[in-house]
Amino acid sequence: MSDPLHHIEAKLEAGERLSFDDGVTLFNHPDLHEIGRLANREREKRHGATTYYNYNLRLEATNVCVASCMFCSFARLKPGDADAYTMTLEQVFDKLRARKDQPLTEVHVVNGLHPDLPFSYYTDLLIGLKAIRPEIHLKCFTAVEIAFFADLYKMTDEQVMRELMAAGLDSLPGGGAEIFAPRVRLKIAHDKCDADRYMSIHRFAHSVGMKTNVTMLYGHIETFEERVDHMIRVRDVNDETHGFQAFIPLAFHPDNNQLRKLPAPSASDTLRTIAVSRLMVDNVPHIKAFWVATGVDVAQISLWYGANDLDGTVQEEKIYHMAGSRTPLAMTPEAIERLVTIAGREPVERDTFYNRITH
Ligand code: SF4
Repeated sequence: MSDPLHHIEAKLEAGERLSFDDGVTLFNHPDLHEIGRLANREREKRHGATTYYNYNLRLEATNVCVASCMFCSFARLKPGDADAYTMTLEQVFDKLRARKDQPLTEVHVVNGLHPDLPFSYYTDLLIGLKAIRPEIHLKCFTAVEIAFFADLYKMTDEQVMRELMAAGLDSLPGGGAEIFAPRVRLKIAHDKCDADRYMSIHRFAHSVGMKTNVTMLYGHIETFEERVDHMIRVRDVNDETHGFQAFIPLAFHPDNNQLRKLPAPSASDTLRTIAVSRLMVDNVPHIKAFWVATGVDVAQISLWYGANDLDGTVQEEKIYHMAGSRTPLAMTPEAIERLVTIAGREPVERDTFYNRITH
């Protein structure tokens, strides 16, 4: 019997879209390097050797959260619980003020689902960050947070989005997607909005001209079929909206959470998942290896397995580090450029919309 990868390669050469079954085949096929070769070819068709990163700052203003996602090590249920924190707005602003000499292009903010803060906390946060650095792009609040705000403050998702946009919101990050298949989502993230609502919030963002990202949390209780289903849902939406600009597979980390008995995904699973993402999610231009989640070494190798983006300088990150990530808290642009160059790729600083930055 002929190797099913030959059939997949022929489809790719003919510019044909891969099917659900092809995606499952790619996950089950033993030859990881051959899958990487196919993914790398698609990467180079679109981006050559270019590898993007940005000069960004991540902030998590509160880890108080009413949800209890099984994979989460970051959330604390109530204000006052050990390690629970909620920054004052001035503390958030000080994080940006302290970096006044950095040529940042983006601030990325995601939070726990805090039950007691007023909506004005979030609008004032955006207004205040823009007042300090008007030129900085604010990529804030996952679709899950938008849905939570709508329910808590008795608004529609669209009203929430419009008010946040009026306060300075520029785009949405991709977090909160986890795995869309209800079997998994109901087990590991039952408090979160479902896949349809997640997608409808992103669809709305795309309809008003925003570009957004979308993630996939892999390596826990999901099957390969459920990963492929997740990818195809993203692909289907992007056929209509063209608004997802980056697909970000996120490795599950098992420390300090309810899934701690599971092993973390292996390096080969991470490389394979990035490669299959490149091959299946053919209409989202950028596949990101978020180095905090993959680890720096695997992120370097992933640049030959379909990834063309490494996220950025990050600077502050709690969600993965509380779940056991041993990566540094920050990387300088010089460190990122060095690791990309050593990996044999060409580093390019970008803004949020993948425009090349020259200083
Ligand atoms: S993943 Fe997000 S929504 Fe879920 S418990 Fe953690 S902070 Fe809360």
